[in-house]
Amino acid sequence: MYDAKSLKAEEFISDEEIKETLAYADANRENIKLIDSIIEKAREKKGLSHREASVLLACEDEEKIRQIYELAEQIKKDYYGNRIVLFAPLYLSNYCVNGCVYCPYHMKNKHIARKKLTQEDIVREVTALQDMGHKRLAIEAGEDPVNNPIEYILESIKTIYSIKHKNGAIRRVNVNIAATTVENYRKLKDAGIGTYILFQETYHKESYEKLHPTGPKHDYAYHTEAMDRAMEGGIDDVGLGVLFGLEMYRYEFAGLLMHAEHLEAVHGVGPHTISVPRVKHADDIDPAAFDNGISDDIFAKICALIRISVPYTGMIISTRESQTVRERVLPLGVSQISGASRTSVGGYAEPETPDEVTSAQFDVSDNRTLDEVVNWLMKLGYIPSFCTACYREGRTGDRFMTLCKNMQILNCCHPNALMTLKEYLEDYAGEETRKIGMALIDRELENIPNPKVKQKAYECIHDIEGGQRDFRF
Ligand code: SAM
Repeated sequence: MYDAKSLKAEEFISDEEIKETLAYADANRENIKLIDSIIEKAREKKGLSHREASVLLACEDEEKIRQIYELAEQIKKDYYGNRIVLFAPLYLSNYCVNGCVYCPYHMKNKHIARKKLTQEDIVREVTALQDMGHKRLAIEAGEDPVNNPIEYILESIKTIYSIKHKNGAIRRVNVNIAATTVENYRKLKDAGIGTYILFQETYHKESYEKLHPTGPKHDYAYHTEAMDRAMEGGIDDVGLGVLFGLEMYRYEFAGLLMHAEHLEAVHGVGPHTISVPRVKHADDIDPAAFDNGISDDIFAKICALIRISVPYTGMIISTRESQTVRERVLPLGVSQISGASRTSVGGYAEPETPDEVTSAQFDVSDNRTLDEVVNWLMKLGYIPSFCTACYREGRTGDRFMTLCKNMQILNCCHPNALMTLKEYLEDYAGEETRKIGMALIDRELENIPNPKVKQKAYECIHDIEGGQRDFRF
């Protein structure tokens, strides 16, 4: 039954294969010889299969876990360097016809404030986001063919790209909307989106159907096969994710890697990113109602194992996680984080007050401003990056993967990160952040290996000081 190349959800995410994988992982959780050989294979930095990675996830040997963390840190350094890309979610509308039991946007929720941004509202939201320094957004919307049809999403994307406030610009719009048709994916591609993100929520079909009792999202196959349709529609950067807490994490982890293997097998390119959200408290949602919550230790182990299993796939941590948890997992392989996020509709221009009826999707755990996040990242030794160059230079899909596999990040992404950080420091940073950032840029310019690239980067940084913007390699 199991066939990574099949286009049928139940064949590329075969329940039987996942169960066998988990049994194999249980049988070998103390098989140190096998575990050592898997870690050895991971050291080649070309990834692991879902079976191999599942054995490591089942392993509880402290020394082996330490080795896994160490390797994850090394792979992160080799492929991604010390850059962390920043983005913000933008909630367009929370109208939704689905019945997802973990999400407060579910149709039966009558007390949440239903809101949908007009194009004028979007101008206000995006202006506020630009004034913070954001260059990259992920747009979010509930599923509602009447209130949020594809035309509304497309018009919103056009509006977002058109807004130029002071030196601000949104240069990449990623899209997290419900599974849709090939034709609609093609329209999104033509609208110039970056990554199409869709969380699977759970790979376990039976649970999936119970967790999505009503609405179009109930259809497991349609949802699970969405990335294939997106790729058929020409989108070659897709972002996977599981909502941890809904089902057994070991099942989800195997499913997630099988999904990545499937995309690689069928389309020749794996997922661009993987997100690892955990269920959070929201309006009428209590995370304690879900039995499969995972501890911070398991969460960190999953992050490290994703990093060593799919080294070329970016990993995203949102503000669902606290500063402490983010700090813990950053070195284990995270490449992108959101900052200063608002999960309410219209929340950037007009933050909701505590006594107002909320429109938010979930409670944010990291409430810091973007400047605080940038400052914090630099103090931890990271380069905050607002880079959007790859997608704008057409380096998407396998072209980005090639750059990553050839470890050209230091000659390309590294200077791009420094130049976009420089823009941030010039236009938006607080005094202390600016000071730390300037010193960091001076230091990090020296780490560019190619002398010509280094020279050019110096010149661009100088030109940014002189008022020019938007340089990229
Ligand atoms: N409605 C679209 C869909 O169905 O995919 C858009 C995505 S929704 C705005 C973004 C994601 O938030 C969902 O895919 C889900 O994983 C996550 N989410 C929903 N409720 C949540 C909660 N209570 N805590 C944390 N994340 C949640």
